Amino acid sequence: MRDEKDSRFHTRSLKSFSSLIPHPSLIKNLLRPLYYRLPPSICYGPRFSSTMKLLEESQHWDEGRLIEFQLSKLRRMLKHCAANVPYYRRVFRRVGFDPESLRDISDLRALPLLDKETVRANIKELLAENISERDRLYHTTGGTSGTPLGIYNLRHSGGRELAFILTQWARVGFRYEHRRAILRGSPVKNRRHWRYEVSERAFVFSNFHMTPDNVAEYARVMKENRLAALHSYPSAVVDFARHLKGLRLEPPQFASVLASSENLYPGQREFIESFFGARLFSWYGHTENLILAAECEVSNYYHIFPEYGVAEIVRDDGSAAESEDELGELVGTTLDNFAMPLIRYRTGDYAKIGPAQCSCGRNYRLIKETRGRWHQEMLVGKLNNLISVTALNIHTDVFERAQQIQFYQRERGKLELRIKRKSDYTDRDSRRILDALEEKIGDTMEIALSFPEEIPLSPRGKFRLVIQELEIPRISFDEMRL
Ligand SMILES: [Zn+2]
Repeated sequence: MRDEKDSRFHTRSLKSFSSLIPHPSLIKNLLRPLYYRLPPSICYGPRFSSTMKLLEESQHWDEGRLIEFQLSKLRRMLKHCAANVPYYRRVFRRVGFDPESLRDISDLRALPLLDKETVRANIKELLAENISERDRLYHTTGGTSGTPLGIYNLRHSGGRELAFILTQWARVGFRYEHRRAILRGSPVKNRRHWRYEVSERAFVFSNFHMTPDNVAEYARVMKENRLAALHSYPSAVVDFARHLKGLRLEPPQFASVLASSENLYPGQREFIESFFGARLFSWYGHTENLILAAECEVSNYYHIFPEYGVAEIVRDDGSAAESEDELGELVGTTLDNFAMPLIRYRTGDYAKIGPAQCSCGRNYRLIKETRGRWHQEMLVGKLNNLISVTALNIHTDVFERAQQIQFYQRERGKLELRIKRKSDYTDRDSRRILDALEEKIGDTMEIALSFPEEIPLSPRGKFRLVIQELEIPRISFDEMRL
């Protein structure tokens, strides 16, 4: 599952404007609050409003209309691939595929599945020739397998993304104007370990510094500002609740808890909902931006957005999983990333097929129990505080010259990061990696790097991002149930 492409409000930079004036950072800081008072269509670009409008209508469309919409977007994308993307020109020729002949979504199955290794090996060939460098944005992803993968997207795709995220959150009452608490992945380095972020309309709290004193302060700020929602990872929400409970503090009154980016384990939902007295709203997404699926007002099934991308659920032998409760790998096809289109991309995440219809009335396909390879592996800091590896955000270019990485821990507050180096790896990379990690967890963890020639697989042949030898102080849900 992805880390955060999921929900950060992507924002336009004020750089071009502030470069014209004498003290850019000062002016920029003064202007920022004003800028974000402008209508969202201005702050987040033209695609924000058009996507909001589309989704407002399309959620009421019947199945036929949704399929027709998706098919026409898909046909357009595949024609673009045939015309402008060298990799697909070659693949289409090899398998005799003609985008013009696409009549049904299932016709996609004539094309081979695309895995991360193939993407990595063909990265240049996967770039569209008619999209200039200036119009695309690079980011890395795929840390789930311990091997970062670099991909490109269109530069101004953030407004569209934000529209999808806000549309799904609106199902549990969260609106653009609402302010929320963010407790995920941001260390917030000031004395208080929280700050207000105007571009997100959110109070950001560090989940790396959840000491009793800080948690009491976080709760005070959340209550005082009447924040509408808590936006976090399941593990961080549970940890926060555990602290509040230890302090005998009443939880802040959120209308909803918005949590994603980690697997949701049995017991977590029940615990969070009963402790906060609020709906836990969960969704599935990933950094490659191919599939987005979210719960609705009335059920915990994940409703796949057909407007976002094409999702397939595929058995190990490559055929389509069909019956309810059947488990398959999520395979995604972009409808929007013209810069570097991924067609039938294996996400490495799994889901069970849901029932045919949800009582909310949307004609979206349903899945349940998504399982990321990103298992909820925890690290333990000096004060016995738990740190989710998701929060370390290893999807950054800091790790670019690491072939593979693995976190190893056998002592509280001490962490070994094993790095299998690429040939161009230098001491400078080590410095950058240490800086990035210390920025986040340096005050609670001593970090050492090691450079094995190989990082061995688990006995079951799987790569493990985290090897944890410590007994993790798992939160017992029975013990905590109210
Ligand atoms: Zn529904």
